[in-house]
Order: sequence, then C-alpha cells, then structure tokens
Amino acid sequence: MAIMNTENNTFFESVQRNFDKAAAHTRFDKGVLAQIKACNSILRIKFPVKIGDQVEVIEAYRVQHSHHKLPCKGGIRFSMEVDQEEVMALAALMTYKCAIVNVPFGGGKGGIKIDSKKYTDFDLEKITRRYTSELCKKNFIGPGIDVPAPDYGTSAREMSWILDTYSSLNPGDINAQACVTGKPISQGGVRGRTEATGLGVFFGIREAVSFADDMEKLGLTTGIEGKRVIVQGLGNVGYHTAKYFQEAGAKLVGLIEFNGAIYSEEGLDLDAVQAHRQTTGGILDFPGAINFTDPAAGLEQDCDILIPAALESVIHKDNADRIKAKIIGEAANGPITAEADEILNSKGILVLPDVYLNAGGVTVSYFEWLKNLSRVRYGRLEKRFNDNMYKELIDIIESMTGKRVSDLERKTILRGPDEIDLVHSGLEDTMIGAYREIRDIHVSLEGKGDLRTAAFICAINKIGVAYEELGIFP
Ligand code: GLU
Repeated sequence: MAIMNTENNTFFESVQRNFDKAAAHTRFDKGVLAQIKACNSILRIKFPVKIGDQVEVIEAYRVQHSHHKLPCKGGIRFSMEVDQEEVMALAALMTYKCAIVNVPFGGGKGGIKIDSKKYTDFDLEKITRRYTSELCKKNFIGPGIDVPAPDYGTSAREMSWILDTYSSLNPGDINAQACVTGKPISQGGVRGRTEATGLGVFFGIREAVSFADDMEKLGLTTGIEGKRVIVQGLGNVGYHTAKYFQEAGAKLVGLIEFNGAIYSEEGLDLDAVQAHRQTTGGILDFPGAINFTDPAAGLEQDCDILIPAALESVIHKDNADRIKAKIIGEAANGPITAEADEILNSKGILVLPDVYLNAGGVTVSYFEWLKNLSRVRYGRLEKRFNDNMYKELIDIIESMTGKRVSDLERKTILRGPDEIDLVHSGLEDTMIGAYREIRDIHVSLEGKGDLRTAAFICAINKIGVAYEELGIFP
C-alpha cells in the first residue's frame, strides 16, 4: 500500500500536483501534458531468494516514467518504504531532473523492498543478482534501454553485481559496461561520481546565495562563508554536502541522523562527528553539542540553510510552520510535501527544489555512461614533458596579473586536467547554468510561482518540445 504523508496524498500525487501547477504556465495541449506526466512502464516483480535454508519472497519494482529520450535513467533503492507509488514518484522526478540539467535520458527508478541491515553481504548479492536477472528477462535494463545507478541503501558495490550479472546474461553486448552507472573506478566508473550529488547540492546553493537581490529579501548576505547550516542525513549525499559546506567556510550548526540530532551554535566538526559516530554507534552525546533524541526536532532549529538529505516527506504540514531556516535545499527527493511547500512559501522561505538541486548524481552518471560507450579515459594521458617551461609560464602569469595561480589552474597547466577535474568542472558548469535558467523563469513569473514551479516549467518546456518534434507513433 502506498505510503501516505500527513496530508493523505501519496508522494506520487505530490509530484503530480507540482507538475500541474507548472503546466498551467506552459503552452502545451492537454494530451501532450498528460503524456509527459504519465508513467510509461511499470514492472512489479516478486521473486524467491534462498536465505539460509529458507525461501524468501522479495518484492521489487522498476518504473520507466518517460521514453522521450533513451535510455531511461535512475537509481535503485533498498528500503522497507519501497512501494509502487514511491518508485513512480521517484521515476517521474528523474524525468524532470534530467531535462533540467540537459542530460539526454528519460526518467526511471527501481526499488527492492528490503531492510538491508537484516541480510549478510552474501544474501544482498544474491538478491541484487536475482533482481538484475528479472530486469534482463523483462527488458528493463541495458545501455540503450534503462540504466540503473546507486540510490538510498545502494552503492558502487551493488552496481558491480548488477554489471556482472547483466554481462553474464548478455555476452554479445559490447556496451555492457554502460548498463549501470556509479560503478567502482576499476569497473568503468568515473572519478567524482561518489561525491557528485553532494557536490552538486553545494554548487547549486552556492549559486543561489550569490544573487544579492534574492539574499537581501531573506535578510542574508551573499556567499557561503559564515552561513549556519543544518544537514539531515549523513549518508553519501548528506555527508558530502556537509563536507563541501564546511570546506567553504560555512558553520555546520546541526546534524540529524535517523536516531537523533545534535546542535551547536559554535559549529560541529564533521570529521570529529563521524569519528564519534563510529565509536559510539550514533551522533548523540557529541561533546559540546545539544542532543535531540527526536530527530524531527533537529529540523526546527535555528539556521540559515536547512538541507534534508535523506528520505521523502520529512517536512509536512504539521512541522512546516516551525521551520526557522531561510533557505531549504532539497538534497533528498521529495523531502517537502505539497502542503508544506505552500506553508514555507507563505513564510518567504526560499526552497531549492530536488528536481534541480540533487541532479548532480545523474549528471555525473551521464559522464560515466559516455565514458563507457566511447571507451576513452577522461583527462590527461601522460605527464607533459617540459615542466620547467610551464613553471616559467605560471611565474609570468602571476607577475602579469598580480594574482596567484590557483592549485587547480597550476595542476592543469603543468599536467593537463585529470578526470576528477573535468568531472567536477563539468558538474559545476551544469549546476550553475541550470540554476540561472530556472531563476530567469522564476523572475518571469512575477510572483505567480516559486522556484519549484519554475524548475518544472523548465523541464516541461524541454520535454514538450521533444514530444512535438518526435510526433506520435504510428
Ligand atoms: N539516484 C540518483 C538520483 O536520484 C542518481 C541517479 C542516476 O545517477 O542515474 O538522482
């Protein structure tokens, strides 16, 4: 049964509602809009897996929301919250996300309804491989068909198992490596994919806080430095987001995990909190911080920027009014329900929507997919031969400009950019460009819609044109 948020809407209905609000500002006819909005293909499977001497029946899904561009793209999550509506909502968000950052994929998403903590690594491998074989049988995976990636509860390890299973079942497919992204580097992964979503969240918020007019309305100064930030969820996305904010001089005043939250006006050192978490099993009782045994209370503490980076519907109509942040960055998918969104808007809080803000992951997945298909290695192939000449060049540049050549520029001049430099700068350009596009649409709405509506308009316009140009078969 679909999980209801406190407004009795499913997550999917919330996404549809956001779509409808934006669609009203576009020129497309009803039929095209209905096609963009619909989930094209839904695979619901149950399969047996032998756990010890017992047979367990596992429930799983893969949804392909849109085929206007192929392959479909989106992560696979392992969670007990997985159900058809959730996966449909997440697949729909992927369609809009890809359009916003100009990644030429349709949206997809998969989920296996399990609590991974209850299984051994060996069992998880069996479950992942059996799930992949089901996707192969039903034509729901392939480099040009549908390409999974990590999501909540999965990582590079599971992607390797998926690759190996797909390759074994499709021996003639010379593009097999591109059937999944988020792989380990040694299996065709790209450097920078692990931190991509968190880094994208950082670039997106950094761009948003660079506009003096917008910050003035919020009573904030421009720039990341000194901003007081709360991050909810210290998984891959939350951890890397928090790390980049701390490195850029923001103050991490609050951190929230599933079993509690901590807060300190003085700021929390992320690595010290991680070390504490490792030794004690949680973030509570971190020296010098205030404890909240109810993690939800952590969301309501004073800060400039709140970043929910875990699961959906954590900000709902019953707590939205108590949120003190001036900016909310949706690193997670769907952390704010549709009704809560309206409350936050009426309070003047700037919400940076998931469909834009967490698109860094799929952006770098696109780089990985291209790398696999083109069989090239990104970045420098060998060290440039005459280092001294380039060192002299740096001296000349520094004396002419009076400015220090940064470490990245120095490295680029001396050795050519590495893969990681190319990935990070490609991601940076993408997040900056997309924010400006959305902000322009937002400004043109003259108060008749928020940034989320602007982001959905941006997506619908691109997908709508694709449908118009492709025409309707037959
Ligand atoms: N699971 C991530 C997301 O929700 C990444 C998807 C991908 O890389 O395909 O955006």
